[in-house]
Amino acid sequence: MVLTHLGTGSRGNATLLETEQAKVLIDQGFSGAQLQKRLARLNIDPTEIDCIFISHHHGDHGGGALVAQKRWEIQIQANHRTAEELKLIPEFTSYFDSLDLIRVSEDLSILPVPVPHSGSDNVAFVASHNGHRAAVITDLGSWTDELVTHVRGCEHIAIEANYDHNRLMNGPYPFSLKDRISGRGGHLSNEQTGKFLAEVCTPETRSISLTHLSEKNNQPHIAESTVLYYIDDVFSGDISISLQDGPEKSHYIGNAHESQPATELHSTTR
Ligand SMILES: [Zn+2]
Ligand SMILES: [Zn+2]
Repeated sequence: MVLTHLGTGSRGNATLLETEQAKVLIDQGFSGAQLQKRLARLNIDPTEIDCIFISHHHGDHGGGALVAQKRWEIQIQANHRTAEELKLIPEFTSYFDSLDLIRVSEDLSILPVPVPHSGSDNVAFVASHNGHRAAVITDLGSWTDELVTHVRGCEHIAIEANYDHNRLMNGPYPFSLKDRISGRGGHLSNEQTGKFLAEVCTPETRSISLTHLSEKNNQPHIAESTVLYYIDDVFSGDISISLQDGPEKSHYIGNAHESQPATELHSTTR
């Protein structure tokens, strides 16, 4: 299984998961043109996408779901609340409940796990490929034991490291917004992400990508060093950062390859 972030952040999120038998996206927060352009850099046409899983209805995650249905008739997988908020076309929508295991193909299943994020029914996704697992987790202010259970021991974990606490508190946002971001239904700070990862990393965890960094309240080197401080004892794999303008890097799950530049991978396999 190969995981490639097409871009993550408050201006749009989409992550490509590929196996021999399936190509799916997790989130589609880009315009149709942007999605097409980002996939084209990997030599993929939108019509090759089997389905798109949407985590929640916020524009940076679900804002491009409807256009994918209208333009390419791509099937969207979402829970009822998310589908309703995004006014998805029922004909091209499959509805899941939390903890329903969705079998996309013989070699790919996806499990949605609820996460706390105010004003939405947000879910994280755990993808399984022949016993190898990868988690994609974003937009949560805190976490549950249930999430820990499902994420523990995943080979790859993509998780948001949204803000540096001091930068957020001393930064330009109004107090009410600072409060919302740092609250239980907001986003994870670098420290929180580090603490969560310390709970879920096992020797099986070989790579981590930090996603959805705030452009105002975070910096890649701060996010990386803060997270590493918490997981130093439990993780010795590869850590990388996904920024707004991907695709940058592809992560292999379930075979011997390490991460490599996304475009290189896709040009050598086609
Ligand atoms: Zn978001
Ligand atoms: Zn959100």
